[in-house]
This record gives sequence, C-alpha cells and structure tokens, in this order.
Amino acid sequence: MIYADNAATTKMSKTAIAAMLPFLDETYGNPSGLYSVGQKAKEALEGARQTIARLIGAAPNEILFTSGGSEGDNQAILSAAALGKKKGKTHIISDTIEHHAVLHTLKKLEKEGFEVTYLPAHENGIVRPQELEDAIRDDTCLVTVMYANNEIGTIQPIRALGEICRKHSVIFHTDAVQAVGHIPVNVKDDNVDLLCASAHKFHGPKGVGFLYAKRGVRLQNLIEGGAQERGLRAGTENVGGIVAMAAALQEAVDGMEENTKKLTALRDRLIDGLSEIEHSALNGDAVQRLPSNVSFCFEGIEGESLLLLLDDLGVCASSGSACTSGSLDPSHVLLAIGRVHDVAHGSLRLTLGEDATEADADEIIRCTKQVVAHLRSFSPVWRDLCNGKGNFIL
Ligand SMILES: *Cc1c(COP(=O)(O)O)cnc(C)c1O
Repeated sequence: MIYADNAATTKMSKTAIAAMLPFLDETYGNPSGLYSVGQKAKEALEGARQTIARLIGAAPNEILFTSGGSEGDNQAILSAAALGKKKGKTHIISDTIEHHAVLHTLKKLEKEGFEVTYLPAHENGIVRPQELEDAIRDDTCLVTVMYANNEIGTIQPIRALGEICRKHSVIFHTDAVQAVGHIPVNVKDDNVDLLCASAHKFHGPKGVGFLYAKRGVRLQNLIEGGAQERGLRAGTENVGGIVAMAAALQEAVDGMEENTKKLTALRDRLIDGLSEIEHSALNGDAVQRLPSNVSFCFEGIEGESLLLLLDDLGVCASSGSACTSGSLDPSHVLLAIGRVHDVAHGSLRLTLGEDATEADADEIIRCTKQVVAHLRSFSPVWRDLCNGKGNFIL
C-alpha cells in the first residue's frame, strides 16, 4: 500500500509512540494529584509545553493544550471576536479557502452580528497582502488566514500579513495545522498573535493539539470545569498525547531540512508525471506550496471513482479534504480558485509522507494514468468533449 493522504492524518512516529507509552502505563497519574505519580505526569506535561514553545519561538505560558486543530481554531476565533465585541469592533477578515473549522466558526459569528470579509485566494491559491491592507477597517477586530492550505498546499505570505495586522493593531490568527512540523514556523518572526496546530498532522497522536496565544491576548474557554490550563481549558490533561506531540514535533523540526529537500523532489516528480495526462492541471501555486502536496484536476472524470479505483490498486489518496469526501458538493477551495464545478469534481490530492520513495511516486503516476484513461473511456462527458460538444477547459 502507498499511503498518500498525509494531509488527512499521519502515522505516529516510533519516537512519538515510545514517548507516549509510559504515560499509559506506569506514569498514569493525574497531573493535578499531589502524590509523586501525579507530579511526574505534571512535570512531563510542563516539559512538553517548554519543548513546543521553544520549537515555535513562544514562551511556555503562551501554549495551551487542546484536542486538536478544530478546537484551536474555534477557541482562537471566538476569543478574538469576544475581545473585539467588548470594544464595539465586529468586523473580521478571512479568506475563501480556509478549513471548515474556521469557516463554520465565522458563519456562527455572522449569525451573531459580526461582519466577515473573505479575501480572494486568486487562481494561484494565495492571498494578497495589499488586499488585506485595503480591507482593514477601524472596526476590524480579527484577521484569520491559514498558514498553508490542506487541499491545494499553497503557503500564504503569513509574515507580510502579520506585519499589516500589527501595524493596524488587529489580532492575527493563523490555522497552522498543515504548516507546523512541515515548514519553518516562528510566531515572533511571523507576527502572529494566535496560532493553532494538531499533533496527528505531524506524526503525533490524534485528538491532541495546541493553541499559541501571545501574552496579552486574552483567551476565552470553550469548556467549563476545572482549573487545568490556567482555567482556559477544563478537563484532565491528555498527558500521554501531549508528551507524544512534543516528541513528534521535535523530531519533525530536526528532520525538516532533509525531509523538505527529499519531498520537494518527489512532489515535483509527481507533478511532472501527472502533467503528462492530457487535459489536466495542477491546483495552486507550483512553488509556494507544501513540499508534500500535489493537487490535480482531470477533466471528464469523477474524483470519487478515481479514488476508489486507486484504492483497488493500493494507492490511498483523497479528492480534497476528508470532510468534503462523501458529499456531492465539490471542494469550496477548488471553486474559490476558479475551477468550475465539473472540473472541480475530477480532483485528486496526493500528500506524501517522509518515507515515500521515487518508486512510490512512479507507481502513483502509473496507476493514476491507467485509472484516468479507464474512467474517460466510458465517461459521457469526456465523449462529448472529444466530439466537440462542449469545450475543454483544461
Ligand atoms: C486537519 C486540519 C484541521 C483540523 O484539525 P483536527 O486536529 O483534525 O481537529 C484544521 N485545519 C487544517 C488546515 C487542517 O488540515
């Protein structure tokens, strides 16, 4: 099996599993306990906080542990909105290709009276800093733009966007779930106030993540209860998961330079190979993209069938986001970058893992060529296009 869906989730690394095990076994104590097995868990929890803080350029007390990216996005956005509302500021700026954890939270705020401006991501899938500058108003309380896109892999100009927000004293949140552990992220250099990440996207366990909140940016808690996480996130801490997340992030950062070089070469090999398929196109910028992400549209086919047939051939891929598959609506991200419905339906997302090889890339290319040709051979849409009843778009 070739697993090429690492943007959906990753396999836990051996290092992360080894770091986690003692906390499922002998060091099972509740970190709030005053006895030594509790205190040992507490020490490990704070050690993990220090590691994570150091790896993203933050201070330990600026790191809050969460259940993952969705929770982090919700808490960050709702907190900034509440701070804004207190000052009578109810305008928010985001963009059209955000993850649903961001978009649905913004929809909720719109129902409560907030106004949201969605910046275009343009054909290349990248937001333009000048357009952010132009959209900021006196009543803007929050800008939320993702670090890197989960479907098309484009990397946003976060540093420039952050600089603009700082200049206008607007809180800047970034969903960095696809970036942390994959490309260099430093909250100071990047001028961000709020940032969230999720362990299972960088070889840590599922159900655990963190939210960075710059000192002075007051968070609201989503969950009422105990005083864990300075009262900002009630519930007994997921000690094993948190310790494993820190170990996974340390490993990811240590190996980043080497992995980036290797993955970029494999990514470009895949892009070159798949480009040989006629009437196909790469989605998103070819250069400003994650080292592991390849996203294509093939005209005249249906993405779901492509995925099922690729699975039969041993290739695990996706058509976009895991949340979108299963629904008949094409991806909002592909529509936002200008793909028409029919074309957006024929999409394929391949996200490689660090252990992928050239042979894997070549096998993916071979299988995709075979399956696309097969599906086109009995596609009425394709037949019409070939017979001149309609125009090729790609
Ligand atoms: C996966 C993902 C999320 C959600 O993270 P969970 O930990 O699964 O809740 C949010 N944003 C982006 C960009 C993602 O890729």
